[in-house]
Amino acid sequence: MAVKSTFRSMGRHFLDFLFPRACLGCGSALGGKSTYCYICSDCLRKIDWIRNHFCPRCGAPDVENGTICDECGRKTFSFLRNCSIYAYSGLGRQIIHELKYRNGRHLLPDIGRMGMEARLDLCDTVLVPVPLHWWRRWLRGFNQSELICERLAKIYDCEVCPLLRRNHHTRRQFGLGARARWKNVGNAFQINELAFKKMKIAKNRKITLVDDIFTTGATIEACAKVLVAAGFGHVEALTLARA
Ligand SMILES: [Zn+2]
Ligand SMILES: [Zn+2]
Repeated sequence: MAVKSTFRSMGRHFLDFLFPRACLGCGSALGGKSTYCYICSDCLRKIDWIRNHFCPRCGAPDVENGTICDECGRKTFSFLRNCSIYAYSGLGRQIIHELKYRNGRHLLPDIGRMGMEARLDLCDTVLVPVPLHWWRRWLRGFNQSELICERLAKIYDCEVCPLLRRNHHTRRQFGLGARARWKNVGNAFQINELAFKKMKIAKNRKITLVDDIFTTGATIEACAKVLVAAGFGHVEALTLARA
């Protein structure tokens, strides 16, 4: 075991020599000892982690403990709760942009570590990625939600099932106002019957929808609505960032 980890550490030092790593936030060089691959400890501390004072329904930060936010007071969702790891600002926002728009798949081990350190409640959960339309998936080359799901599934030893598919191509939610976001994704999803039959997911299993960002909740709600209508009784959401 010790020999194996020595080789791994030597391999990492060699790779660092060939391809020096720099912090995504401040550009400082990162050596073999850094816990995160692409984020230095100083920048890590500056991330707006959501650990206390959040809305227990939608995960919004800066909400007094034990109360729900104003928005949740006005709306009802089909999902029981959303949990987000950090607020969508600064380096947290940069991580998502790098992953989605600059093919930042090298950041996935760091995202996985964030998920691990957040000590998420994923016991006996089936993780369901929010699907992309096949066209957008093809253009991007990957679906970031699937990749986040796979990372978390390894860490928490849970199943991943692509239980949903996207019916039609919708405009990007980015840049749309709240009302337009709800309208844009309202009927965008349906059950992926093939995956459902193949994986035989029982309707009483806890389902956790996974996405990179929760803004108004329109996308998560559109997905949750389909799952609840199909008979799934316990649907939650987990998102990397809360806008
Ligand atoms: Zn840094
Ligand atoms: Zn809320």
